Amino acid sequence: MSAITDQSVLELSEAERARILAKTARFAPPEAHTADGRKDLVGLSRAELAAALAEMGAEPFRTKQVWHWIYHQGATEFSRMSSIARPMQEKLAEHFVIGRPTASTVQTSTDETRKWLFKFRDGQEAETVYIPDKHEDRGAVCISSQVGCTLSCRFCHTGTQALVRNLGAAEIVGQFMAARDSYGEWPSPKGETPRLLSTIVLMGMGEPLYNYENVAKAMTIVMDNEGIALSRRRITLSTSGVVPMMDRAGSELGVNLAVSLHAVRDDLRDEIVPLNRKYPIREVIAACRRYPAASNARRITFEYVMLKGVNDSEAEAHELVRLIAGIPAKVNLIPFNPWPGSPYETSTNAAIDRFSRIVMDAGFSSPVRAPRGRDILAACGQLRTESRRERASEA
Ligand code: SAH
Ligand code: SF4
Repeated sequence: MSAITDQSVLELSEAERARILAKTARFAPPEAHTADGRKDLVGLSRAELAAALAEMGAEPFRTKQVWHWIYHQGATEFSRMSSIARPMQEKLAEHFVIGRPTASTVQTSTDETRKWLFKFRDGQEAETVYIPDKHEDRGAVCISSQVGCTLSCRFCHTGTQALVRNLGAAEIVGQFMAARDSYGEWPSPKGETPRLLSTIVLMGMGEPLYNYENVAKAMTIVMDNEGIALSRRRITLSTSGVVPMMDRAGSELGVNLAVSLHAVRDDLRDEIVPLNRKYPIREVIAACRRYPAASNARRITFEYVMLKGVNDSEAEAHELVRLIAGIPAKVNLIPFNPWPGSPYETSTNAAIDRFSRIVMDAGFSSPVRAPRGRDILAACGQLRTESRRERASEA
């Protein structure tokens, strides 16, 4: 490619990113404060927290203290902050809150998977799922990034719900913190010692790369060493392939990447993952090859939902390994999880085994994702809420 073409490609993707971010702003979350005007400290960056405290007249060293109480100790009341004198605690409580979404419902599956329907201040709702590891004392928290989704992947329940709005950083971090409250897992574990809620997967409702700024801010908070301190290796962001934002996520956040591929031909992917019409397979794969945080130790996950008679043939397995050749990758086969009215069936075990064998023979690990929490509609692609966008003029 000539230097000129290189430059124009760069400018094109910059323009595309600007367009995506402008669209994101139309679905912005409400300001994070209570009806009586107290500001939520959860979801502020460190610099924003420092500014908010300074404005109230607190000394600079308070930032570190308050941060520690919020994100390391999990305090939700200023009166618990024993290293802060009572008059200052009271002053903080007059100006601020430490928010959590409220759980409208909590359901626990027969396999121990737990699902929360969380309600936010404006009444909108999204779901969060905790998936415990069956063999170890740890598990993944599956977090939502949007209420609904603009994309309408044919096999996904969330995709049948129009996008209501983006979740704010406070609401994204808040899902993890509220899940932790529910398991009594504070203070935050130090270092790499795994605890129950040991990883985050951004695989709940919504497309995280269509809400990049809020997701990035939330993950930066979660990764901060003096708080929740989850390493970027313990965070996986799943995208249906928003190519221009994949580069940004890789260079700025460096979290693990999962890509919802699901088909190896553009005609089929156009149909089941309609975003493919904008960012076709070739471009998605090229973005994976560029992804800076990928290595043999930290492979890119290709997610592939197994739809009976649709995308599960041996020929498609061979094509898949051809497409991803040379990428440090694994292929996660997800047996399709049905939902009320869903138009597909799950592939047979024999078809899944055959597919997986071909992928493994090509040298890729190819785990089959065991369905978890299906009885409470908590498995991949089963999340959906009743939230709707109220202002019809902006719908
Ligand atoms: N929007 C992001 C993340 C959320 S979905 C994305 O699409 O990647 C998490 C994973 O579940 C995605 O790979 C998604 O394609 C998959 N999925 C959606 N519906 C499903 C279903 N009914 N059964 C199995 N997996 C599904
Ligand atoms: Fe949205 Fe992901 Fe569901 Fe597609 S699979 S509709 S991108 S949540």
